[in-house]
Amino acid sequence: MSDDMRPKILVVDDDRDIRELVHMFLERSGFQTFTAVSAEAALDILKNQVIGIVLADVQLPGINGLELTKIIRQTYNTDVIIMTGYSLDYTIEEVMAQGAIDLIMKPLRLEDLLLRINVVLKNRSEKKENSRKLEELKNLTIRDDLTGLFNSRQFYRHIAQEIERSNRYYRPLSLILMDIDKFKSLNDTYGHLFGDKILSSIGEIIKSAIRMQDTAYRYAGDEFTIILPETELERAIAVAERVRHAVEIETQVFTDTRPLSITVSIGVVEYLTCEDAKSFVNRADNAMYVSKKKGRNKISFAPALTQPVK
Ligand code: GH3
Ligand code: MG
Repeated sequence: MSDDMRPKILVVDDDRDIRELVHMFLERSGFQTFTAVSAEAALDILKNQVIGIVLADVQLPGINGLELTKIIRQTYNTDVIIMTGYSLDYTIEEVMAQGAIDLIMKPLRLEDLLLRINVVLKNRSEKKENSRKLEELKNLTIRDDLTGLFNSRQFYRHIAQEIERSNRYYRPLSLILMDIDKFKSLNDTYGHLFGDKILSSIGEIIKSAIRMQDTAYRYAGDEFTIILPETELERAIAVAERVRHAVEIETQVFTDTRPLSITVSIGVVEYLTCEDAKSFVNRADNAMYVSKKKGRNKISFAPALTQPVK
């Protein structure tokens, strides 16, 4: 593995003198530089290297520089600067139409080349930074800070989508709702910060107990939900049991007087064709309450005969 952090540039030119000149110059200017004699050789290198900028001559044997640009832009997140010796042959608009970011005339002026490369690199890093910020903002609006799980707003969005999908394709869909047992007294006894820690570790436990296709939410204060697409009641109960058990085992805290285990009460329901989100969630909530009534640290399921399974 390479820990070379220098920006990677690939020079594609069938003229050996130009390749060597540009290679030497770019290396001296602080870039990691690769060279290729043809578009085909360039594509081979691109398969194995994450290249930031390709500097390609228009006239190449085989696939020409513009065709190469098109292929690169379709496949990689790489910018292409076209070099041309025939200043009248192509305009900047024409090369840009193929996806190139700039056009540079031969004979090359190396300082000019460096300037243009630096402009492209600066734009690339700004673009990357912007999409990172956007992603962060998006996460803020859909995720809960404390647990990193999705928030309730996202829950309602997702459940509406999954209900629609379930109705359209007649696919099973299940929902798990859980509430921490006696969480208030835990907060009162050990403090709010301790409570926060418990919330966040339960978030972690849920994340590692669910399967790829399931999504977990901090639904309210000490309530969590899990949406399980393509899942029938029985399998959802198995997931719920995994979470219940993991919480019981993994949240053991040793207080001065006795070991204390934090537990959750769970309700599990399978979607009934055509019911709305409100009724679906209400049934899960009711099932969860049955678990509370039956002594907590239990799983109950709906609909008709709501009964605890543990
Ligand atoms: P039950 O077994 O019946 O659920 O009892 P409970 O004490 O857990 O009752 P309830 O679910 O009504 O209490 C929820 C508590 O969760 C009350 C509130 O102080 C606490 N809580 C809600 N959000 C947070 C939070 O972000 N951090 C902490 N530390 N506590 C919270
Ligand atoms: Mg509670």
